[in-house]
Amino acid sequence: MERILVTGALGQIGSELVNKLCQDYGPENIVPTDLRYLENNPICQHPNFRTLDVMDGDKFLSLAQEFQVDTVMHLAALLSAVAEEKPQIAWSLNMGGLVNALEVARQLNLQFFTPSSIGSFGPSTPKDDTPQDTLQRPTTMYGVTKVSGELLCDYYHHRFGVDTRGVRFPGLISYVTPPGGGTTDYAVDIYYKAVIDGSYTSFIAPGTKMDMMYMPDALQAIVDLMEAPEHQLSHRNAFNISAMSFEPEEIAASIRKYLPNFVMDYDVDPVRQAIADSWPNRLDYSAAETEWGFEAHYDLDKMTQDMLAKLSQRFN
Ligand code: NAD
Repeated sequence: MERILVTGALGQIGSELVNKLCQDYGPENIVPTDLRYLENNPICQHPNFRTLDVMDGDKFLSLAQEFQVDTVMHLAALLSAVAEEKPQIAWSLNMGGLVNALEVARQLNLQFFTPSSIGSFGPSTPKDDTPQDTLQRPTTMYGVTKVSGELLCDYYHHRFGVDTRGVRFPGLISYVTPPGGGTTDYAVDIYYKAVIDGSYTSFIAPGTKMDMMYMPDALQAIVDLMEAPEHQLSHRNAFNISAMSFEPEEIAASIRKYLPNFVMDYDVDPVRQAIADSWPNRLDYSAAETEWGFEAHYDLDKMTQDMLAKLSQRFN
């Protein structure tokens, strides 16, 4: 991996991934792209930043050629809650954008990364210690596109030899860029509200466990997987990874260790609750550990401490 084009670079993951890649590989070797151009966004100030609608396959190909990249990291997608509101657009973007990205990788012989999600599982998937290879019959449009994407990436490897790789991300928690409409967004919102208001109303019901991960661990996982020697990988796409699994009361209790007056109540959103109920409680990520040394460094309390410190600096 030497020169990397990133799609969806202004999103929750992309905006931090671009910074990490600039540090690790040199800013001149990173090409951040997004549908949007935001004048005051630092990513848009990067000299290689280009607007790119991933539905435009010709422009995608010509940008990859112009910058002579050897890797594509494809992040542009609609997330779970938004995809449930706009299922037809979600199918069109999540699959159409992915096919275009894979075609660029195939035609130029590039290494390829795209994330799947815990949303690729469904109600019939074993909920605890969810295996790497298991039943995947998701009941959301997001999940349908994520399973299809996993299969398509496998296909491009087997059929065309493209070096496709990917992980199933759990809910990602970060303080830099707000999340883009996922079901696990509550676990980000709660820290902002804890710092600003001292209270939070959760749209996810008590007792709902989901896998989560702090952004620095997620970014390191992407780089570690992409740098892993190919012969070590028997899976390629859609590695289960996770750092912690908790329900709303557990994250509230963690916050109270640092902000003892924090209070939480509930106003459950039936749409996002139904999505959460169809997802696993806790993944088994031993394949990622064995095949490429996946490791997470933040547990719930360590993440809480860092989130509250960073947000307090910003808002107080
Ligand atoms: P996000 O919604 O924060 O960002 C998506 C970005 O894509 C936005 O900047 C948007 O402008 C851009 N975009 C939308 N349509 C586009 C188009 N047609 N062409 C180019 N860009 C377009 O998403 P994210 O949280 O950064 O997620 C990135 C990827 O990671 C997605 O595939 C998502 O499914 C996956 N993922 C995210 C999480 C999470 O918790 N954030 C968890 C699991 C998987």
